[in-house]
Amino acid sequence: MREGSLEAPTRHPVNWKDKAFYDESLFFKELERVFDICHGCRRCVSLCTAFPTLFDLVDESSTMEVDGVEKKDYWKVVDKCYLCDMCYLSKCPYVPPHEWNVDFPHLMMRGKAIKFKNGKSKLRDKVLSSTDLMGNTLAKPVISKVVNITNKNKIFRNLLDKTFKVHKHRDLPDYSAYTFRGKTKNAKKTIVDPVSPLTVPSKVVLFSTCYVNYNEPIIGEDFLKILNKNNIQHELLNSEVCCGMPKFELGDLESVEKLAMKNLPTLSKYANDGYAIISLVPSCTLMFKQEIPLLFADNQEFKKIAQQFYDPFSYLLALKKESLLSMDFKNDLGNISYHVPCHLRVQNIGLKTKELLELIPGTKVKTIERCSGHDGTWGIKTEFFKDSMKIGKPVFKAAEQFNPDYISSDCAIASRHIVQGVRENSKKEIEKLHPISLMRLAYNL
Ligand code: SF4
Ligand code: SF4
Repeated sequence: MREGSLEAPTRHPVNWKDKAFYDESLFFKELERVFDICHGCRRCVSLCTAFPTLFDLVDESSTMEVDGVEKKDYWKVVDKCYLCDMCYLSKCPYVPPHEWNVDFPHLMMRGKAIKFKNGKSKLRDKVLSSTDLMGNTLAKPVISKVVNITNKNKIFRNLLDKTFKVHKHRDLPDYSAYTFRGKTKNAKKTIVDPVSPLTVPSKVVLFSTCYVNYNEPIIGEDFLKILNKNNIQHELLNSEVCCGMPKFELGDLESVEKLAMKNLPTLSKYANDGYAIISLVPSCTLMFKQEIPLLFADNQEFKKIAQQFYDPFSYLLALKKESLLSMDFKNDLGNISYHVPCHLRVQNIGLKTKELLELIPGTKVKTIERCSGHDGTWGIKTEFFKDSMKIGKPVFKAAEQFNPDYISSDCAIASRHIVQGVRENSKKEIEKLHPISLMRLAYNL
């Protein structure tokens, strides 16, 4: 297999139940091998701060080679990786089936799993990745109000920074006074005589995600309005827990397994009934489409679920091809600075969101295909906040230069980060709206 081959990259299953996976000496051996290839290549230097950290360690070592870097410093590279996956899919010519077999993100994830297993993960990271626990506690009528006000209080944020290491300048998402699943639990539309298009399932089940459920239910409500408008049969899953991506990023693979097994029976039922399973958060979709099938490679049910998982805009565009999507847009949207999140880019489905938004009259979309540098929780941590803003700077600039009416990203967390970056760089306050909410606005629903 030669460098630059046109063959599609393959991903090996993650053998995390194997004892060797957690063997630190074997892990260091593999790190040294891969670091040496990366040192000779250096293509990924501009993607994030993990690669510059590695290359600085090499360049400042006595030998100026990987063998001169102290093993304990390898962890600095692992910590700087937030598993966006871009080095695997957008840059690396040495991914399998190339014989060098470089899978940098999964190697970093293995490091995080070893750290977690050895009890070296921070309490903060365990709390922040417990999204259901946080949401079930905080997304309540009075509590959410208190939390949202407190999160904007300077004295509290200084204290939180010092004690819990959540950066004092990071804009945090508000908690909702109600949950999406609580409010819309009866949202169900059954079409008596369902149309069965050739290329796409005619019925949808919504995996609501922790973010939509606890932080921005409006995105889910807007999606339900769009499905209703287009007369698409839909319902919510009768039970659901976190997809496991935050625990995956922490390296807590046993918790990922517990969550995956809780979601499995319900998702499996809908997948086998031929539903399109849709989530409005690209990271959650990627978890089901890519990471869970690789973590549980022998489980055929997870493979079936992955096949039935759809990005919302690829689903809506497939409806359009079947002449089942209403083009009855009432409102122009103006200029939109649209950011494509990494976890959507690595799904390799093309720019479906942009394609659909551009069908709306009076709408211009400027696409920004670059990592915003936030990740789920990485960019809120005190030690990574500066890196996060540095990685995002080119995105902030590009977003602002278009003079947009809206900043939008399929990842609602990324769009908040971009709005903060634009405000800090140029003192402009630009409204953010999720692409699904933009579409609802265009329909005037
Ligand atoms: S997965 Fe993303 S953050 Fe991690 S090393 Fe690759 S590009 Fe950097
Ligand atoms: S991950 Fe691949 S492309 Fe990136 S620096 Fe390493 S070898 Fe080069």
